Amino acid sequence: MPATKRVLIAASMTFVSVMLYQWGHLDGREGTASGFIGKSIAAESSPKVSPVKARARDFYAPNSEDLAPDEMRLIACGTGMPTARPKQAASCWLLELGNGDKFIFDVGTGSGERIAALQIPYNFLDKVFLSHLHTDHFGDLDALFVGGALAGRQKPLRVWGPSGETPERGTKYALDHLRKALTWDLDGRKGLTDPRGYHLEVHEFDYKGMNQIVYQENGVTIRSFPAIHSLDGPVSFSVEWNGLKFVFGGDTYPNKWYDEYAKDADLAIHECFIAVPDMITKFQFTPQSALAVGTQIHTAPEAFGKVMSRIKPRMAVAYHFFKDFDTTGAIYERIRTTYDGPLSLAEDYMVWNITKDDIRVRLAKVDEDVWPPPATEKPQKPDPSTRIPYSDEIAGGRLDVKDVIQPTYDEINKEYGLNEKQD
Ligand SMILES: [Zn+2]
Ligand SMILES: [Zn+2]
Repeated sequence: MPATKRVLIAASMTFVSVMLYQWGHLDGREGTASGFIGKSIAAESSPKVSPVKARARDFYAPNSEDLAPDEMRLIACGTGMPTARPKQAASCWLLELGNGDKFIFDVGTGSGERIAALQIPYNFLDKVFLSHLHTDHFGDLDALFVGGALAGRQKPLRVWGPSGETPERGTKYALDHLRKALTWDLDGRKGLTDPRGYHLEVHEFDYKGMNQIVYQENGVTIRSFPAIHSLDGPVSFSVEWNGLKFVFGGDTYPNKWYDEYAKDADLAIHECFIAVPDMITKFQFTPQSALAVGTQIHTAPEAFGKVMSRIKPRMAVAYHFFKDFDTTGAIYERIRTTYDGPLSLAEDYMVWNITKDDIRVRLAKVDEDVWPPPATEKPQKPDPSTRIPYSDEIAGGRLDVKDVIQPTYDEINKEYGLNEKQD
């Protein structure tokens, strides 16, 4: 081949690479651009590194990638345990579908912060499915309920969860009483902000239902089946949409229902507890309770592997352990004694993009300074007549600072053409 032709081909391939990269960069799809180039072009002509152009990134940056119409995106918003730690919130999984639907599975303690980091307008975050009523699976429901309404959810929070062996052990009882526990909080907000989000819509279903449909809207079918954990009541969920199947096990001892209904999952989450020796040395469990909790109430790593070997998902996801440099190895090695298929050891902010052809696993990098995203509709003006006044004794304790506040009223009234007055 003549030298001039070689140069021409190299130059045009570089141009194509740069254009493909730019396409990714400009429409916010850096995440997919690098994979695309990597498969189709870079193998033949390594793209030239530019001193002024950023290279494609290989992490997920919230609010920067479109979701394809046939794609699912799952984000781990909590993978830890009931014991709080900065590195891992407790169980919470956000599933986004290419049709625009978003579902939250569990909302464990600390997970509200992770959800916030994803910069999704709260009106889209109105559907929560609870696997069971341990606080590490619903401890941040109050934060999502009240904080979400304040941040732009202008509709009730819809919550699906299982019944219990008695009414008092069911989701409806728990949430009715959570609502009561928040009486002071909710009363104090009356007349001050858009009131529409401060309602819980609870859908309790039979925990013994076998692969029963608990939700069916917009081409999405969600089913539940029983789990075995702690007391009667816990369940697992499956989501079917557009030929893809996602399964979330919640907490459970390995069971025959998961074995049957999680089969053929594209992505299957099942709990996998810390290895028993680490529970004793690092968590200070007695050997007896480490054995009981780590292998009987929960699923031991070897048993997790056995479950996944039987159902053979396209991707198996293990969670419910503190994922550290000195615990992960033991969990991984124990799983690998019984399972050799695709595996993700979950940690907070792990992201899975799932299509029929591919499952891409990355970590998200989030903005610590994030504010609530814009509301999707204009807030309703509150009705000041619904405000609950202070008693005379308390109202009478106010210092007179009206003179220093008035300039703020003047400023805002002028800016927005209003005539608001101080109380
Ligand atoms: Zn539990
Ligand atoms: Zn748990």
